[in-house]
Amino acid sequence: MTEIHQPDRAPHQPFSVSPGIDVIPLRTPTLPPATHTNCIVLGGRQSIVVDPASPYPDEQDRLLNWIREQQREVIAIWLTHHHYDHIGGAEALRKASGAPILAHPLTSQQLDGDLTVDEALYQGDRGNLEEFDIEVLHTPGHARGHLAFLERNCGVLIAGDLIAGQGTIVIDPPEGNMADYLHSLGRLLLGPQLRIIPAHGPIIDDGHQTLLAYIAHRKNREEQIIALLEQRQPATPIELVPEIYPEVPSLFHPLAERQVLAHLLKLVEDGLVSRSDGGGQVPGRPVYMSSGGQNRPVLVSFRLTR
Ligand SMILES: [Zn+2]
Repeated sequence: MTEIHQPDRAPHQPFSVSPGIDVIPLRTPTLPPATHTNCIVLGGRQSIVVDPASPYPDEQDRLLNWIREQQREVIAIWLTHHHYDHIGGAEALRKASGAPILAHPLTSQQLDGDLTVDEALYQGDRGNLEEFDIEVLHTPGHARGHLAFLERNCGVLIAGDLIAGQGTIVIDPPEGNMADYLHSLGRLLLGPQLRIIPAHGPIIDDGHQTLLAYIAHRKNREEQIIALLEQRQPATPIELVPEIYPEVPSLFHPLAERQVLAHLLKLVEDGLVSRSDGGGQVPGRPVYMSSGGQNRPVLVSFRLTR
């Protein structure tokens, strides 16, 4: 297989990962340090477009012009998940191409009113492109309806927000779930080595090593939280943030709080930690990609069960 991807390419210019697997980074209102979302055009003359992400008309035109120049026909628009830095250009591309939008039913549910999904995609579905063998993987964790797409012939994974080429993956409960996330990462280790196209940032060539590093990173966080609780418990999530995330400015503490909460809820599921409210609904409200009201710290506290 010819390696076409050039690490020193001009930033945000379209590039090819493998013949017929092209990435068009589009400017989006995403989370810093990322500024762009990778839109993927997959196929030959007939192509599937994954995450036409940009809500900005100039970027939507850039994508359409690229598709026209390459003489590709869009036969379907696939969404990895519902966040607006992934779906911003979906309606415009549907209008321009007539192609249907497909996503997991849980993504359709989240998009209710913002964007209509034409058809459902499920775990195990296959893309109907002649020269490619594309498998749909349901990979919840970052979002309940999150999908990744595995091209088996080339061993390329279109990972959406499962892995970050740049920045970090936010797990904000209840849409985010740490146990599901670790399970989704672990499943990918069972298959062959992968090259990963993340939603943001450059291609990752050593897929398995990166997946292992991601799992190890989250396990370390978990151990760090357990060690902190041993010293000071009970504790609310926000009380643990300055020690878990000393490098994170206070502006981002509400987001960091949600990550700590995600870890704590997983530890509750594991039976290692208990909640002062005895369980039930996820406390507080989501922060990530959410416009819902003022954030207030979670008042539920957590302690070790042993
Ligand atoms: Zn996302």
